[in-house]
Amino acid sequence: MFESIKSIDAKAEIAKLKNDNCAEDDVFFQAMEEVLISILPLFESDEIYRQNKKNAIIRRLITPDRVIKFKVTWFDDNQKIHVNTGYRVQFNNALGPYKGGLRFHPSVNEGILKFLGFEQILKNALTGLPIGGGKGGSDFDPRGKSDFEIMKFCTAFMKELYQYIGPRIDVPAGDIGVGGREIGYLFSEYKKMTHSFEGVLTGKPDFFGGSLMRPEATGYGVVYFTRKMLEIEGKETLEGKICTVSGAGNVALHAIEKLQELGAIPVTCTDSKGTIYDARGVDLELLKDLKLKKRVSLEVYKEKHPEAEYIPVSQYPEGGHAVWNIPCYAAFPCATQNELTAVDANNLIKNACVSVTEGANMPSTKEAVHIMLKSDMCLAPAKAANAGGVATSAFEMSQNASMDKWTFEEVDAKLEAVMINICENVAATAKEYGVEGNYVDGANIAGFKRVADAMMSETV
Ligand code: NAP
Repeated sequence: MFESIKSIDAKAEIAKLKNDNCAEDDVFFQAMEEVLISILPLFESDEIYRQNKKNAIIRRLITPDRVIKFKVTWFDDNQKIHVNTGYRVQFNNALGPYKGGLRFHPSVNEGILKFLGFEQILKNALTGLPIGGGKGGSDFDPRGKSDFEIMKFCTAFMKELYQYIGPRIDVPAGDIGVGGREIGYLFSEYKKMTHSFEGVLTGKPDFFGGSLMRPEATGYGVVYFTRKMLEIEGKETLEGKICTVSGAGNVALHAIEKLQELGAIPVTCTDSKGTIYDARGVDLELLKDLKLKKRVSLEVYKEKHPEAEYIPVSQYPEGGHAVWNIPCYAAFPCATQNELTAVDANNLIKNACVSVTEGANMPSTKEAVHIMLKSDMCLAPAKAANAGGVATSAFEMSQNASMDKWTFEEVDAKLEAVMINICENVAATAKEYGVEGNYVDGANIAGFKRVADAMMSETV
């Protein structure tokens, strides 16, 4: 695969990096490979990037500024002590303070956070806002924990993290397993440790200076992006169309909400145990109650809607996911990485799906991306399509810095404008570099260009 990109020494760059890094880095290499292959047209057309041997721009971009790793010790409800690992990857601050979410999930390790941090650099660059890239989290599993245990863990986590972050240094937000409740605990501990009420986290509850609409922003942004992409590509609108969505968390629920508002019919959602298929359209109010308030399995959905189908993971098709086997006009993977495989991509194509928009970070495997790009389908990559969350986080930073509060409508209008702008920029960049209609390459080139140009103006 790397034979085709000898001109930018990508093979050598990755081989060197693989030697330097831990065994958990596969998903990080997957993300890097995609970007390095995508940006080839830029290296062919522009002299400044061709001088990579001299300015080492790729090596500088793919190496994090620093990886912070720390011990988190906390008491459970039975006074038993647990030890978890906490991380913050401060990847790149060429364009602004490090910015990116915190993930609490047992699968978290350094490799996953490097992958997410790397993607975040380009995503944040695409927003056009002054934010760098970072990511963090812990292998702590919030599932099944009491409120008190969540508070104890967040408190212990922030007791270490606070010394590395600041409103002009590094501004974390939420991600998988970290929502408004966790950000609230983290913020109040930061306040205690530093005696400072400042915009050091985004996604905060309203009373701590959170921006209105931050919880909705990623999911709404995903749908705004899709609407624009379908328009640019001359496809029919979402109105009246069957849509499939994976996930039942922050991104998925708000994507479903916006789809319903636009008159589309989202018929699915998923969690780590199974898939709900409700052919009449999912009951969003019930989903919010089950997932945001009661935090229970999706299986419980059937108690109120016995006519809906619940498909447990054990009944998923071989090598694929039940949700992508359901015919739809537009698909929205919004749960986690690598949840849409080659098998799934072929099923979507077979069922004449017109567009796939990545709400989660890197939800499609490398093989699935390849298959979808070769088809007629429109593919909106995560780093462009789900940038609405981080854009609204940057709006929260602005509001905190100026002690201001914008209305829901103001934030929504700014979010929509940012998503339209990203979509148009990505489409135009793809066209300029000879890959018209390829939003994956368009996003990688546009994001890389902005951050690389800033880095080449930095001192070394
Ligand atoms: P969330 O609220 O924690 O929800 C995650 C959902 O995905 C849950 O339904 C969870 O199921 C499911 N899930 C998690 N890991 C899974 C796995 N290994 N297999 C199957 N299902 C799994 O998280 P979120 O904030 O919606 O984030 C979802 C994705 O969007 C992530 O990739 C995240 O990085 C990305 N993203 C989020 C934001 C944001 O603003 N939140 C912004 C940009 C990108 P259970 O309920 O069973 O755990």
